[in-house]
Amino acid sequence: MKRLYETILTEGTVINDNVLKVDSFLNHGINPHLMKEIGEEFADRFKDENITKILTLESSGIAPALMTSLVIGCELVFARKRQSLTMIDNLISTTVESYTKKQKNTISVSGDLIKPHDSLLIIDDFLANGQAAKGLIDIAQQAGSSIVGIGIVIEKSFQPGRSELEKQGIRVESLARIASLTNNQVQFEEKTCL
Ligand code: 5GP
Repeated sequence: MKRLYETILTEGTVINDNVLKVDSFLNHGINPHLMKEIGEEFADRFKDENITKILTLESSGIAPALMTSLVIGCELVFARKRQSLTMIDNLISTTVESYTKKQKNTISVSGDLIKPHDSLLIIDDFLANGQAAKGLIDIAQQAGSSIVGIGIVIEKSFQPGRSELEKQGIRVESLARIASLTNNQVQFEEKTCL
């Protein structure tokens, strides 16, 4: 995705060797044109799957997941990090260690919204150690749903998330794969991406 690579290079800030800030288009401000392309790309990569629902995690997974669900024509459910007063019955929960905040959060989805007959595509903004993705997989498994794969907007390929997920037999599709953030520079895995 040329536009995603270009936007990462022009608008991303390397915070340190492990963290990239992309607040202008993904984590705080949202670029709707880029999100539309992201949705089209995920839909295309998973076009052979019969996806009934997209599962993501609030808040930064919602924008790319919503655009993907619109293109695929399926519903979207996001796991909540804070319990809502209206979410009382039939909750499916798990614990996830936050990469950026280094704290454990309970994330929850209503069991009314994902069912054993669902075939889920999981989407998230970043893949680092794979904790958020594993939490979403755990929720899907508790619901008895099947998982067609995981779509990630930005993968940090020098961290172990992808291999952890692939070990579980999960298909991982990442739209941008970062090989390194050293020397304040973003290096992509693919040399011919621009
Ligand atoms: P993981 O659970 O795979 O270790 O980390 C993924 C989650 O942590 C993502 O949902 C994302 O919110 C956050 N995250 C991980 N690495 C980065 C990063 O370099 N930049 C930003 N902005 N968020 C990150």
